[in-house]
Amino acid sequence: MFINGQWVEAVSGETFDDFNPYSGELYARVAKGDARDADRAMAAAHGARKQWAATPAIVRAQILSKAAGILRENLKEYASILTQEGGGAVGKVMFEISQTIDLLDTAAADSKRILGETFQNDPAKLSMTLRRPRGTVVAITPWNFPLILSMYKVAYAIAAGNTVVLKPASETPVIGLKLGELFEKAELPPGVLNIITGPGNILGDALIDDERCSFVTITGETETGRHVAKRAAAGLKQYSLELGGKNPLIVLADADIDYAVKSAAFSAYLHQGEICLSTDRIIVEEPIVEEFTRKLTALAASLPVGDPGLPTTFIGPVISERQVQSIDFHVRDAVSKGATLLTGGTYVNRLYNPTLLTDVTPAMRIYHEETFGPVASIYAVENEIEALRLANDTTYGLSSGVITSNLEKAIFLAEGLEAGMVHVNDGSIDAEACCPFGGCKGSGQGREGGRYSIEELTELKWVTIQKRKRQLPF
Ligand code: NAD
Repeated sequence: MFINGQWVEAVSGETFDDFNPYSGELYARVAKGDARDADRAMAAAHGARKQWAATPAIVRAQILSKAAGILRENLKEYASILTQEGGGAVGKVMFEISQTIDLLDTAAADSKRILGETFQNDPAKLSMTLRRPRGTVVAITPWNFPLILSMYKVAYAIAAGNTVVLKPASETPVIGLKLGELFEKAELPPGVLNIITGPGNILGDALIDDERCSFVTITGETETGRHVAKRAAAGLKQYSLELGGKNPLIVLADADIDYAVKSAAFSAYLHQGEICLSTDRIIVEEPIVEEFTRKLTALAASLPVGDPGLPTTFIGPVISERQVQSIDFHVRDAVSKGATLLTGGTYVNRLYNPTLLTDVTPAMRIYHEETFGPVASIYAVENEIEALRLANDTTYGLSSGVITSNLEKAIFLAEGLEAGMVHVNDGSIDAEACCPFGGCKGSGQGREGGRYSIEELTELKWVTIQKRKRQLPF
C-alpha cells in the first residue's frame, strides 16, 4: 500500500490474491488492509492537508501535468496492467489511458481556475465567495475503468488542494496502486495521496467513520452507494455518488439504420458491457424495428470474443466468475419468462458471448436491474412519446442516447429523458474531462469533471468586508 509516501505492507501482514480474468492465473498478491491501515492512511492525509492546501496552484498544476507526461511515456505498461488485471481489450484500454492523460491535463489547468464571485449589492461592503479545499477526501473506486475512474477523483481532489485516501476495487488493486507510483514520480509531497487495498466494507466503513474524513466520493454499485451515503450522512459528512445505470438508446424511424446499429453494438458491448454507461435497453420505433433487429443481431453475433491482449478482440473476459453467473442469471430469468434470445446467451469460462434479447417485459429482472455484461434488449415502440415513457421507466438515470434526424424530436427527448447525460446521434457511452459526468435517480448524486469536480471538492464560503462601519441600532 502507499501511505505517507512509503510503500508498506498491511499492519496485519496479510495479503489477498488478484487474478487475471482471462487466464485465471494469479496476477498479483496484494496487501489486505484493515481498519488499522485506514487509520494510518487517514493520519497521513490529515497531516499533509494544511501544507497542501497552502501550496500554490501552479505547483499543483505542474505535478498533475508531470503525472500526465509520465503516463504518456509509460502507456504500454499501464495498458498491459489494464488488460491483464482488468480484462480490457486493446481498444478499450488505449481509450481509457488517453482519456486519463487528458483528464490530468484538464485537472492541471482547472487547478488554476478555482473561482469565486463578487456581489455588487451594497456599496458599503465587498461581498464575495471563496472556495476552499474540503480537507481529506476518501475516494472509493470500481474495477471496470479502474484507471480513469480513480483518476477523476484523485486528480481533481489534488487540483483543488485536498489530500486523498484512495481505496481501489479489490479486482483491480494493482492499477489503483500504480496511481501512487505515478504521483510519487511526479513528486507529489508525501501524504497528499494515500492508497490502501483490501475489503471494501471493512476499509470503507473505517474511512467514512473516521473523524478526519471531510468528504466521501464513490463510484460503484447503487447498493454500495446507498450504504456509503447512509454512513456518511450519519457522520454529517458530505458525499458524491457515481452509481449504476440502465441506459436507454432510442432509435427513431427516421434514423440512419446502419449507423444506429453500429452505435447500439458499440454502446452495448464495449468492454463486454461492463460500463456504467452501457446501453442496456434499445428502444426502436416500429417501422424500422425489424430491419434494425436483424442487422444488430448479425453484428452482435459477429463481434470477436476472446483474448483481450489480441488487437482484433472486441469482447474480452468478464471480470469474475460471480459476474458471469449474475449475467447468465439475468438472461435465463428473461428467457424462462418468455423473452426471445436473438443471439448469445452462452459462455465459455469468463467469455460471455454478446447477447441480444427481445420480448422483454417488466416481469423480468433484466427489465429493471443493471446487468453489467454484454447483454442488451430491444423494445419496439409506436412513437417518441412511448419511447420516452419506456426510457424513463427505471429507477436509474445515468446516460442515454437518441438517434434521429428530426431536430424537434431530438430536443423533446433530450429535455424529457430522466438522465444526467443525453447524447443525440450517439450511443450512451461518452465522457470528456471537462464535461459534467454523473447521473440522477438511483444513478447517484453530484457531477465529476472540470469545474464540476472543483465545485464538488471545495467548500463554498461567503466573505464580506465592510468598507465603512455598519449602522447598528445601538
Ligand atoms: P462495487 O459497488 O461492488 O464496488 C465499488 C467500490 O466500493 C470498490 O472499491 C469496493 O471495494 C467498494 N465497496 C464495496 N463495499 C463497500 C462498502 N460496504 N463500503 C464502502 N465501499 C465498499 O462496484 P463494482 O462492482 O466495483 O463496479 C461496478 C458498479 O459500478 C456498477 O454498478 C457500475 O454501474 C458502477 N459504475 C458507476 C460509474 C459511474 O460513474 N456512475 C462508473 C463505473 C461503474
